[in-house]
Amino acid sequence: MANSIIKKPHSDVKANLDDYRRCYREFDSSNLNGPSPKGLPAKNGLNICYEAIDCHLNTETADKIAIRWISKDDQVRDFTYRDLSELTSRFASVLNTLGLQPGARIFSLAGRKPELYIAALGTLKAGCVFTPLFSAFGPEPIRSRMEIGTANMLLTTKSLYRKKIKDWWHKLPELKAILIIDGNVEDNGCHDLSALMDEADPNFSCVQTKPEDMALLHFTSGTTGKPKGVVHVHQAVSHHMLSAYYALDLKPDDVYWCTADPGWVTGTSYGIIAPLCLGVTMLIDEAEFEAERWYSLLQQHKVTVWYTAPTAIRMLMKAGSELCHPYDLSSLRFISSVGEPLNPEAVVWGYKTFDIPFHDNWWQTETGGIMIANFASENVKPGSMGQPLPGIEAVIVEYDQDGNINIISSPMQAGELALKPGWPSMFRGYLNQEEKYRSCFEGGWYLSGDLAMQDEDGYFWFVGRKDDLIKSSGHLIGPFEVESTLMEHEAVAEAGVIGKPDPVAGEIVKAFVALKPGFEPDEALLKSLTGFARKRLGAAVAPKEIVFRSNLPKTRSGKIMRRLLKARELGLPEGDISTLESDE
Ligand code: ATP
Ligand code: MG
Repeated sequence: MANSIIKKPHSDVKANLDDYRRCYREFDSSNLNGPSPKGLPAKNGLNICYEAIDCHLNTETADKIAIRWISKDDQVRDFTYRDLSELTSRFASVLNTLGLQPGARIFSLAGRKPELYIAALGTLKAGCVFTPLFSAFGPEPIRSRMEIGTANMLLTTKSLYRKKIKDWWHKLPELKAILIIDGNVEDNGCHDLSALMDEADPNFSCVQTKPEDMALLHFTSGTTGKPKGVVHVHQAVSHHMLSAYYALDLKPDDVYWCTADPGWVTGTSYGIIAPLCLGVTMLIDEAEFEAERWYSLLQQHKVTVWYTAPTAIRMLMKAGSELCHPYDLSSLRFISSVGEPLNPEAVVWGYKTFDIPFHDNWWQTETGGIMIANFASENVKPGSMGQPLPGIEAVIVEYDQDGNINIISSPMQAGELALKPGWPSMFRGYLNQEEKYRSCFEGGWYLSGDLAMQDEDGYFWFVGRKDDLIKSSGHLIGPFEVESTLMEHEAVAEAGVIGKPDPVAGEIVKAFVALKPGFEPDEALLKSLTGFARKRLGAAVAPKEIVFRSNLPKTRSGKIMRRLLKARELGLPEGDISTLESDE
């Protein structure tokens, strides 16, 4: 693993970390060591929408552009904070008119359209619960999530309604209405959103929720199995805001672009809530990934802070850095990544290409916000997820012989990454899965299900998911290390590594590799890659088998689905593949 350190320009963030700690201490965390955190001070009146939008109304931020939306065909629409305040009020009024009370569950199924963002915030303003779904989901994943989440209303488009909703929605007894963004359809219970918005009352005061009131229901990515419905509360907003300030270095003058879709938690916590809380101008691109389009947007809108994901970075690398040479990207001052381990190769590539390194950070749907990050003020160690945010206590643990949890204090020893419960954006449950929720807590720790190590400087290093760990001839091998090494080979664009059962070794390491354009998957390359991996990793850890694929199976949030590679390899059932993006 790379241990080199990239020196960074100075930032003033460090000076403020103490403020952040102090702010956390204001919460009463005495009761938060168990699975059902209660006991936060009853501070009525907290509402995510207020913190994101309405609190700016009497400040200079009110008339600043909050959202710059770019359509697929390059139309630009700007919304100021004042515009968003009125539009979210209208949306909240629409919910009232339709009889939806605080606590009602509002789902969205739409591409990245302005209405989606207005609905998300308007829903919170009305004290209702927002659940975004990926618009690319098929009818069955949509239906099952809406059933599990007892959806009361859905926001969608005409075409998605016709293709994916129309045949079954009347069978969901709790689903009262459907709002259509772009017109209406002939069906009882369906409404034309823009007509309702025009008639709606533009004055609506944020519903005063309690900090523990449910605000968001998010489904996990489904990388390791059936997606879980994760419950978040209004209290989470304090972590969204402060973590973006510290881990993304986000300041009010920034032009910020989070490339994540709101169907995934990153697209909500850091693609809607946090940037607006901090009063920045944020970009939303309706279109899908396209390398040249992305460079052109970064240049044209003078993006300063950019938050993306390893899969996108690997696609940019695959497209070649020459592609970005014609563009002036000098506005970029902070770039970061989340969702999967970021291979050291990608951090170094970012440094060469943009003059600044990617800052990897780690968190989960369950944690609601960033927990571990490479800070702006600290050195970046390529391949490391960084250090815990102030107020976040992270450790590496293992079970002893009696089944008790022990903290591993020696550096670079792998174990399960655990967090001390109690931060505001911590999940409050898996919907309808109380047992599963409880099983995440042990000995006063939240167990993340990820394996990691901590070095002498306090930086955390991802090893792999607990389920993905490979046991080969007595060695424990984390797929990330093997994948990152393969990525260092000039031909490799992407790699996914699994343990394949073997009668002698227990498991052998098998790698699935996608190549960069211009490389042929032939015998010579196979030999070169095998030799390269052996030299770097040693014979015990290097893959015994390497196969070439044009693409690797990924979730909609861009994570390599190793469990699917494994199931296919072993001829086993594929399990829940509702979040699978086509890998053809
Ligand atoms: P599921 O829980 O349904 O299997 P998932 O865990 O992929 O899916 P998310 O909550 O979207 O769902 O992803 C969180 C996981 O993503 C983390 O537990 C970790 O495994 C991985 N992850 C996120 N960021 C990083 C990172 N910076 N480095 C390594 N892994 C990361
Ligand atoms: Mg998970």
